[in-house]
Amino acid sequence: MEGHLTLEQFGYTIPTLDSASVSIDSNPVDRLWEPYKILPIQVTGTIKSVQIDPSRAWGRREVRKGGNHLDTVKGCRGGSAFGGRGCFGDCYAKEASRRFHRLFDIPRSMILNEKRLGRQLEPLIGNCVRNGVKGDPSEDWELGIKTMEFCDQYDITTIFLTRVGEIPSEQQFTQMAMSEAIIHGSVSALDPTEHIDIILDALERYEELGGRSVRRVITVPLREDSPLWDTQDELMDLSNVLHQPLRFRGANPFADQFDLSVCEGVKSNTTGKVTNRWRSAKKFLTRRYSHTAGCITNCWDCGHHCMFKLGGVNW
Ligand code: SF4
Repeated sequence: MEGHLTLEQFGYTIPTLDSASVSIDSNPVDRLWEPYKILPIQVTGTIKSVQIDPSRAWGRREVRKGGNHLDTVKGCRGGSAFGGRGCFGDCYAKEASRRFHRLFDIPRSMILNEKRLGRQLEPLIGNCVRNGVKGDPSEDWELGIKTMEFCDQYDITTIFLTRVGEIPSEQQFTQMAMSEAIIHGSVSALDPTEHIDIILDALERYEELGGRSVRRVITVPLREDSPLWDTQDELMDLSNVLHQPLRFRGANPFADQFDLSVCEGVKSNTTGKVTNRWRSAKKFLTRRYSHTAGCITNCWDCGHHCMFKLGGVNW
């Protein structure tokens, strides 16, 4: 299977938004819903990658300063999956874009302005960038690769975080391998089998062509009798695995398959206080899968650094 894949090919429900739609508000005084604006690619921080000062008012915490994220594409067609809740029934990027009235399901390629991006890469702390935070770079591999090659000139390695909405061509895989880019394919037992196969096959092909890849397994606290345990455990037994416990809300379409007794509330990004709006079984899953590296979510003091710093797991 190659080229742009449709949600149906992934085994998901049909899209909930018409790509021609620019407004889903019926009340004209409400803020309009729009796709992401097409802007120059920039290096930025997020609540996840930058240590913030919670004593400062929201909006004054300078989250954007520092960090090493960039997005060559903002938005992702996968946002349409599961009735518009996005992958795993709770895509964090879809939820974040919703707050800003962005139509996440319509991916937009950004602009590579080398002069501008170069100015940001010069003082970058660390020697890697993560591409794929507010969108999926697989929506436009050509631009992702062009940007990767530009970062390479500054000796900065690109880590692609993707759901492989489009499978790279052999030539694109080779270009990425030459640049020593690392492809993180996010995959979960909650994914339709078709999607799991596409992601794992793509990572395997990349490795055959000399590339480095990571299976970023999004783990969930299943009920004891759930048949999905086998799938999740199998994913966790693959090589080069980094696991990331899912943060989910009460209305998650898989919630009836979860053991809520091992879940805990997650800290709110705005108040820093623990809330039950979002939950995760981070402690439970980290204990169960203690044989693998785990994403601790606080990039500033993470030893794995997206498996870039480990530098030695089977590659
Ligand atoms: S593995 Fe580390 S650096 Fe990568 S996203 Fe997770 S916390 Fe951040």
